[in-house]
Amino acid sequence: MSEKNKQEIEHVKCLIIGSGPAGYTAAIYAARADMSPVMYQGLQPGGQLTITNDVENYPGYPDGINGPAMMQDFQKQAERFGTDVRFGLVTKVDFTGPVHKVWVDDKKEITADAVIISTGAAAKWLGIESEERLNGFGVSACAVCDGFFYKGQDVAIVGAGDTAAEEATYLSKLCNKVYMLVRRDEFRASKIMTDRVLNSPNIEVLYNHETKEILGKDAVEGVLAYNNKTNEEIKLDVTGFFVAIGHKPNTDIFKGWLEMDEVGYLKVIPGTSKTNIPGVFASGDAADKVYRQAVTAAGTGCMAALDAERYLTEIGAH
Ligand code: NDP
Repeated sequence: MSEKNKQEIEHVKCLIIGSGPAGYTAAIYAARADMSPVMYQGLQPGGQLTITNDVENYPGYPDGINGPAMMQDFQKQAERFGTDVRFGLVTKVDFTGPVHKVWVDDKKEITADAVIISTGAAAKWLGIESEERLNGFGVSACAVCDGFFYKGQDVAIVGAGDTAAEEATYLSKLCNKVYMLVRRDEFRASKIMTDRVLNSPNIEVLYNHETKEILGKDAVEGVLAYNNKTNEEIKLDVTGFFVAIGHKPNTDIFKGWLEMDEVGYLKVIPGTSKTNIPGVFASGDAADKVYRQAVTAAGTGCMAALDAERYLTEIGAH
C-alpha cells in the first residue's frame, strides 16, 4: 500500500454502524463515557421508525410522537454529547485482527478498537404497487405499533408464520374482525400459535388466498384477494392491511465473520451484546428476531455501549 493510502486510514475508538434507536442509544452512552463515537448512518438514516407515522408505545412520549421526529430527537441527543454522526454506508468489514477494519461506501477505510453493530432489519413486503403507495396510510408491517389505530375496525393480515399468527391474535383483541390471508392450505407457524389463531372467533382464515390489490386512494378502503386454486376473487372491506411475511436482518456484510442464525440474525452471548469476535458488539433488530421494538433496540444499544466501554478499558484503549 502506498504512503498516500496509508494516511487516508482513520482510526476511531468506537465505531457505530447504523442509526436506529439501538445505534443512537449506543451513541449517547458512548459519547457520555468519552469514547468519541463515530456513527455511520447507513442507507436509511433513522432506521425503520422513519417509515412509521405515530409511535405511541415508546415511554416518555405521553402524547405519542411521529417516527421521523422521534429519530431526530435521538440524533440531537447523541450529537449533544459529541457523537460524530456521518452519512455513509458500511460496505465491507475485516474482523481478522484486534483492530477492526471497516470500509465506508466501498472506499474510505477506518480502523476501530470497538465496533457496535446496529444495522437493524427490514420487513419483507409483497412488492405490489398499492402496498407501497399506501404504506403508512393503512398498510403496516407492525401490528404492535399500529394495531391500536384500527380499534373496533375490520383489518386483514397476510402471512402464516409465527409472526403473522402472533400479530393476528394481537389484532383480534383490538379489532372487530381480522381476515388472515394464508397462501398455502396450511400454516407455517408452530402448533400452539396456530391453535391460538384458530380459537379466536373473530379471525377468519382464508387459506390459498393471496393479495391482488389493496384498494383506496389515500387510505386503505379494502383488499382484493384471490384464491390461487380457483382464481376466484373476493373483496374484503377492511381499513387496515398488515404484512407479516418475515423480516430480513441487515447483516449480509458480516457473513463469514460473525456467527448468525440461518436467516442472518447475529448471535450474541445471552444477556450481553458480545458477538464471537472480541470488541464487536451487536444490538437492536440485527440481533433480535423476537421482540423487534424501538424500546428493546434502545435497551440493547445501551448494553452494547457499556460492553464496549468495558472492553476498551480491558485492552487499555480507554
Ligand atoms: P417466517 O419466515 O417463519 O414465515 C413467513 C410467512 O409468510 C410464511 O407463512 C410464508 O408462507 C408467508 N409468506 C412469505 N412470503 C409471502 C408472500 N409473498 N405472500 C404471502 N405469504 C408469504 O417468518 P416469521 O416472521 O413469521 O418468523 C420468523 C422467525 O421468528 C421464525 O423462526 C419464527 O418461529 C420466529 N418467531 C417466533 C415467535 C415466538 O416464538 N413468539 C414470534 C415471531 C417469530 P409459506 O408458509 O407459504 O412459506
